[in-house]
Amino acid sequence: MNPFKEFRTVPDASSFAPVTLITETAAMRPDVFGGRAKCLQRLIRLQMPVPTTVALSFDAVRGIARGQMPDIGALMAPFGAAPLLSVRPSSLDPDWGGPGAILNIGLCDASHASLSASLGADVATKLYLQFIQIYATQVARLNPDAFHFDVRGGISAVRSALSAYEAEMDEPFPQDPAEQLSEVLRSMARTWEGTSARLLRQAKGAPSDAGLGLVVQTMAFGVGPGESGAGVIQFADSNTGAPRITGRYLSQSQGREALAAATGAIYLTHDTRGSSLEDENPAVFARLKAFGQIARTRLREEMQIEFTLSDGVLHIIDAVRVPRTVRAAVRIAVDLAESGIIPRDEAVHRIDVQAISAMLHRQVNPDAARDLILRAIGASPGAAHGKVVLTAEDAQAAAARGEAAILVRRETTPEDIRGMHAAAGVLTQRGGVTSHAAVVGRGLGVPCVVGASGLVIDRRGGRVIAPDGRVILAGDTITVDGFNGEVLAGEAPLREAQLDDAFQTLLAWADASRDIGIRANADTPRDARIASTFAAEGIGLCRTEHMFFEGDRIGMMREMIFAANSQERREVLGRLLPTQRQDFIRLFEIMNGKPVCIRLFDPPLHEFLPSDRAGMRDLADGLSLPLADVMARVEAMSEYNPMLGLRGVRLGITVPEIYEMQARAIFEATVAVSRDGLSVTPEIMIPLVSARREVQLVRGQIDAVASAVRAQSGVEFTYRLGVMVETPRAALRAGDIAQDVAFLSFGTNDLTQMTYGLSRDDAGRFMPAYLANQVFPDDPFHTLDLEGVGELLQIGAARARGSHQGVTLSVCGEHGGSAQTIAFCRKQGFDYVSCSPFRVPLARLAAAQIAI
Ligand code: PEP
Ligand code: MG
Repeated sequence: MNPFKEFRTVPDASSFAPVTLITETAAMRPDVFGGRAKCLQRLIRLQMPVPTTVALSFDAVRGIARGQMPDIGALMAPFGAAPLLSVRPSSLDPDWGGPGAILNIGLCDASHASLSASLGADVATKLYLQFIQIYATQVARLNPDAFHFDVRGGISAVRSALSAYEAEMDEPFPQDPAEQLSEVLRSMARTWEGTSARLLRQAKGAPSDAGLGLVVQTMAFGVGPGESGAGVIQFADSNTGAPRITGRYLSQSQGREALAAATGAIYLTHDTRGSSLEDENPAVFARLKAFGQIARTRLREEMQIEFTLSDGVLHIIDAVRVPRTVRAAVRIAVDLAESGIIPRDEAVHRIDVQAISAMLHRQVNPDAARDLILRAIGASPGAAHGKVVLTAEDAQAAAARGEAAILVRRETTPEDIRGMHAAAGVLTQRGGVTSHAAVVGRGLGVPCVVGASGLVIDRRGGRVIAPDGRVILAGDTITVDGFNGEVLAGEAPLREAQLDDAFQTLLAWADASRDIGIRANADTPRDARIASTFAAEGIGLCRTEHMFFEGDRIGMMREMIFAANSQERREVLGRLLPTQRQDFIRLFEIMNGKPVCIRLFDPPLHEFLPSDRAGMRDLADGLSLPLADVMARVEAMSEYNPMLGLRGVRLGITVPEIYEMQARAIFEATVAVSRDGLSVTPEIMIPLVSARREVQLVRGQIDAVASAVRAQSGVEFTYRLGVMVETPRAALRAGDIAQDVAFLSFGTNDLTQMTYGLSRDDAGRFMPAYLANQVFPDDPFHTLDLEGVGELLQIGAARARGSHQGVTLSVCGEHGGSAQTIAFCRKQGFDYVSCSPFRVPLARLAAAQIAI
């Protein structure tokens, strides 16, 4: 569904009269006159009492900014003799801002005299003084200090203000309403063209040529005799979206004064806190309620209505969408659909995919003051505060004491995983969005900020030094905001995640509309539970190596690495087997029959070895080996380019015992859960493949293990074998490789790394310069490079399907959850994408929006 579709078939903007009286039938389009003008027309069509309004088109306002003023006499003709007017901005999207409204245009000595007769001298004088002040400062742009006159000064304050204006401008205050109006229009048009306004709106997504329309309206006075006043009413709560009448009304006021007033404003509905419009003027309240209902059903939106009472007569001045949090946006969209006002698909479309991530994680209260220490890359969403710790061990110790800790590291390595698990948040000096800290942080749902290159970490001194020189000691509290990459001093107030029924309903509707699968990358039972909560359709990637860092397993891994021969390796791995089997049993149980794709061991073995002397001494003690032997072995295993070295399937072939143990653990887990009535067809995935023969060799090993387990257990089972396409060669040879497997899953992290020849762990150092110089339009580890990496995906998918039509295709790199990747994969006929568990809801929504 394309919200702009309707514009394609209608005439172009130049065929609209640039200045148009808004009537039920006038030609009025939001992309020509702005959203406010269009909305006012809708209110008029709904028979609401809207004062006479004239709209100026974007073109008209552009002309005014260039000095081409439309015929003001003609513009003012619909308002009759000696009108008092307001002018309000009307851009396509109200969020783009714009100049503030100006009221009471036309007030001059003559109209002041006649208003004094009709509204009373005090009221007329107050309005005149306020208008002179606003005109002088906002239209003539005079120094506000020269216009501080107290309304209590009455007519003499007006005289002083008029003289001050004349003194500053060398000409009298304009007494001609037409001249006042021209100047107001000119100043608003120019404000919109100004650099700061342009930058502000572009930051909110406005295109560089976004236009401004203006609406000129007869003033409905909220001041004067009888019941006069102004107010604002809405029918849904801005925070929660729940149906609730809120707003304020202030007697003897205009515009939105009621919302700003410190005293005097009353509530709309009967309220124990004080008087209300409902009690004091039930007839008006009832009409407003009826208008709210009409606006909701006919404008298909929750509207905030601005109204005025003039001597008891109700006018509707304006209506805008109820301002709302994401949570409220979801509730409102769902309620509108459940009331039959909008279709479900439209409700799904109305929600901003990125914005909902704020509902899944805690966030820094947006209203709270922020003491910013630094700003880097927000790599795992959510916010957390805690005491600074500089080692993984300290993070664990803090967790054991029940204290929240923020783990601050130069970068994280697999050795830090337990510390990351224990930490409330992570901050690293190095790295980008696919660095270890970022990937693990997202997987764990731990807020993470990476690439804080200006940070100095003085581990020995137990302190870190911020880019501004501020010293933060270990134990000091900081807050990390993984949404925007900010690190704040102290304990910033946080807001809880807000999953509610409306959100679940919306996602269920999204599921009904989408046509590509969404799985989760989940390594641990905790991840799997989150994946399950977010209704992932299975696990698309279980990175098994993370399991080997837990508890005493790292010790066994090290023993295995130091084993003298295959027999010894098997013996150590045999001790790891039961725990690994238990890992898989738990994953199968949690996923309850949904597919679980387990990737065999991937990283270089040296990642399990200590990197410093103290660690090596510990290891030597543990293995009863001379320190020199341990050091020599570690040295011998080091590689110049470990990510291109002995890892993934290359390990599987050269040290086959690891994959054999893992395959056995997977099959024995399958047998175990099948005895409890759960039918599982495990998926086994081989990483870093670049040649078909690699697959055939590993397949032979795994088949042999499967046969052995079948024979030993007497239980029949099948499994699906797949390959991770992470090297450019695997993509190019996908036609070959696909013949031996049931599925191919594109690992776009490594594939991006290898296609660009760009280290995913180091790119953060120069990526900002590359982006600033537009070498890359985006960080390719963050946004899938459709031109290069995407072409490899396209080629790989086409060749794979060419030789094996039913082969399952997926993406499981970090790009998997983004709308852009989903759209691309869907177009290429992929079966599913797999992403971090916390991105699953976003991916479900994005996939539906793409399909609708
Ligand atoms: C990948 O390379 O895209 C992938 C999913 O694997 P990892 O991030 O574990 O290297
Ligand atoms: Mg990889």
